[in-house]
Amino acid sequence: MKAKDPVCGMTVDSSTAPARGTYGGQTVYFCAQSCQRTYERTHPPDPR
Ligand SMILES: [Zn+2]
Repeated sequence: MKAKDPVCGMTVDSSTAPARGTYGGQTVYFCAQSCQRTYERTHPPDPR
């Protein structure tokens, strides 16, 4: 499944995305861990 990295706008495949996290019950996929860290500055991840 294709997903969009909300930080840089790149299209990533959910099965191969290098980074992912859950925010508000939604799984978000990132092209890189650096994008995930940027996202988490403004979106706190859900507790695991
Ligand atoms: Zn990215």
